[in-house]
Amino acid sequence: MRYFDIAIIGGGASGLAAAISAGRTDRKAAVAVIERLPKVGKKILATGNGRCNLSNAHLSAEHYHGSCSALTKITSEFSVPDFFAGLGVVCEDDGYGRIYPRCRSAASVLDALRLECARLGITEICNTEITGIEKSGRFILRSANEDISARTVILAGGGRSQSALGSNGSLTEICERLGISAEGAYPALVPLKTDPVLVKPLKGQRADANVTFISGGKPVKSERGEVQFTDGSISGICVFDLSYLCELHEKNGENCELSLDLLPDMDAQQVTELLEHTRDIRRAAPAEDYLSGIFTKPMGVYMLKRAYRRVPEKTADITGLERLAETIKHLYFPVTGTAGFERSQVTKGGIAADEINSDLGFVRIPGMYVCGEMTDIFGDCGGYNLDFAFSSGAIAGKNAALSLKKRH
Ligand SMILES: Cc1cc2nc3c(=O)[nH]c(=O)nc-3n(C[C@H](O)[C@H](O)[C@H](O)COP(=O)(O)OP(=O)(O)OC[C@H]3O[C@@H](n4cnc5c(N)ncnc54)[C@H](O)[C@@H]3O)c2cc1C
Repeated sequence: MRYFDIAIIGGGASGLAAAISAGRTDRKAAVAVIERLPKVGKKILATGNGRCNLSNAHLSAEHYHGSCSALTKITSEFSVPDFFAGLGVVCEDDGYGRIYPRCRSAASVLDALRLECARLGITEICNTEITGIEKSGRFILRSANEDISARTVILAGGGRSQSALGSNGSLTEICERLGISAEGAYPALVPLKTDPVLVKPLKGQRADANVTFISGGKPVKSERGEVQFTDGSISGICVFDLSYLCELHEKNGENCELSLDLLPDMDAQQVTELLEHTRDIRRAAPAEDYLSGIFTKPMGVYMLKRAYRRVPEKTADITGLERLAETIKHLYFPVTGTAGFERSQVTKGGIAADEINSDLGFVRIPGMYVCGEMTDIFGDCGGYNLDFAFSSGAIAGKNAALSLKKRH
């Protein structure tokens, strides 16, 4: 059995930040990061398409969801870009508030974290999945390889999204066995599935749209951005940010839809006028070319087919333009579910707010802390999730080390 002062379970973004913060707070403490995969930080490498969108200039509670939303004050008190500046990583805003390393390399972010862990003498224990936690004075962490003893433990096991990148929810199950309550896991930041017959003709198409999530006939929330169509689902950042609402559908048994406004800067009257004007210009053209100066050609043809039972051959013969305008302003797709954990970027749910103190220690288990996606909080797309992972990890690491110092 190996003995440590502080053991961090999970070598992702939050776990590595926790290790660095703990090691810096108490240079004498023996700190270990325990990771089930062969290497730490596998998910970090996949973030932001390999460019790692690690924070956002517009951090605020409205971008976070879940019972632990009060913890978002951590993100305003701790600066992730400053933390990385201290590790030699220069960060910059991409002009839309999304903060990236200047080199746009997630590998550089992981290297910086690992270099600091090495400088602080932190032990990495990989290929080791913790399967049980016991407490009898010290904590005993059970795994198939070895048992590890620690005075303080930080749980940084992530959610259930994309298990090939590490997190599989096993640590939350261990917590539940210890009597700690967790909100049910649900995929978030994920494509939404729809009727394949309706969406297949648009496969590969992209469009700027204002997207509204509708549940039980009532609009719930809207987001604007680029929408992408596949043969069975609709995605894009704006759809990702709405996707967690799909849980409403499953819980309430309500019919859910996405309504796409494909000309969001015009009202219905202006769209009708644009359609009339375009029809005058393209009178002699085949109907399939009517809308190709406003939308891509496949998108334009699709819109005509959705608006009219029979599409005439010539543009000049298209009438009832109010109906076409209505289709363009409200293109409906039924929502039949999410594309699941394996395609989701984050997990909704996790350790419930009433189990966690403001210092990220567990209310009922002194000496045990939690951070990152394991808690019942997740953010919108745009760097909010990594910011919370790094900042909550750093705070949990610091408080765990301070609690040990106090006990000395
Ligand atoms: C493809 C993709 C792209 C993303 N892009 C962005 C982005 O650009 N910006 C952004 O803000 N967010 C992004 N996210 C979300 C973000 O990556 C996560 O919210 C964040 O990494 C969570 O960090 P974490 O440390 O809490 O959990 P994780 O990164 O999931 O780390 C948990 C670690 O714990 C380990 N572990 C779990 N259980 C055990 C156990 N029992 N024993 C030992 N080890 C265990 C896992 O193997 C894993 O390495 C993206 C997510 C994905 C999947």
